[in-house]
Amino acid sequence: MIERFAGRLRDWHLRHGRHDLPWQRQGPYPTWISEIMLQQTQVRVVIPYYHAFMERFPDVEQLANASEDEVLKHWAGLGYYARARNLHHGARQVRDLFGGEIPNSLDELMTLKGIGRSTAGAILSLGFRQRGVIQDGNVRRVFSRIFGIAGDLTTSVKQRKLWDIADELTPADGEEAAVHTQAMMDLGALVCTRQRPKCHSCPFRSDCYAYTSDHVADLPQPKRIRQRKTEDWVVLEVRNSANQILLGRRPTQGIWGGLYTPPIDTSLRDLEATLSLPDLLDSEEVHIKEHAFSHFKVRLHHLRHRFDGLAPPEFEWIDLRGFQGGLPAPIAELLSKE
Ligand code: SF4
Repeated sequence: MIERFAGRLRDWHLRHGRHDLPWQRQGPYPTWISEIMLQQTQVRVVIPYYHAFMERFPDVEQLANASEDEVLKHWAGLGYYARARNLHHGARQVRDLFGGEIPNSLDELMTLKGIGRSTAGAILSLGFRQRGVIQDGNVRRVFSRIFGIAGDLTTSVKQRKLWDIADELTPADGEEAAVHTQAMMDLGALVCTRQRPKCHSCPFRSDCYAYTSDHVADLPQPKRIRQRKTEDWVVLEVRNSANQILLGRRPTQGIWGGLYTPPIDTSLRDLEATLSLPDLLDSEEVHIKEHAFSHFKVRLHHLRHRFDGLAPPEFEWIDLRGFQGGLPAPIAELLSKE
């Protein structure tokens, strides 16, 4: 193991780490919110969403007592909506099973929906200033390079090895562990980045396997990138003479789960079959927008239609002004267009 790893990391972090993120040293609830938001999203994108979310849901009780619609509305634009639903569910578990207090043990934290071992470690460490160990994507990349761990890092053998290293390197003292956790995150985000790491300013370059053996570009070994296929979806904006719009709540599981969208299908003919609205085939296509999900892309064909009458099953007439439900960001963008 590398000599004085934690001490060298701490010294580097003192001078070069991030010390002014809005969720730092704010306790377990802000840590929890920020950790979930940061799972798939970069810090600079997260910050404005974090502020808005905390303003509306400043503590776990207010999050637990909110409706899912409102939580999703405040998440709209961050994507990966299962994170918001799990967070909301977890807040209700805290309210109902833990008397409103976020638990401060690894095992109990991991019973909360959406909290895995690394997020629990981060909440313990950064939120409670207790000893907690993390092993997220940044940490995996750093360890893979420093210790020369090749191959698929998600196998159970590699996972065990990575957790063992993370555990061994994390200081025993809670306060020191908190600094260590933040420093590991910062080293991965600021120096040992995925592309073009800044090895010249890394505190471990003299010991790093990848740097000293000229294998920085080879580690960690990239996952095989599958070509993302593109689907065509028709997004049908139907308005009535009161300027209300037809929206339906999507099933909780699946894409944009729990959010509201206009009728969407892969063709106008399919929409006509399910909605049975008159003259639907005459709808006018007004925009096309591409949107990427993690495994595929969609071309959204935005069509407009006028209709007055009863909303078809599973849809309702909604006035968007003052609407409390969440809309997926690309859909909100289409609906706001002239
Ligand atoms: S020397 Fe380079 S590759 Fe090695 S840990 Fe530091 S930044 Fe990463």
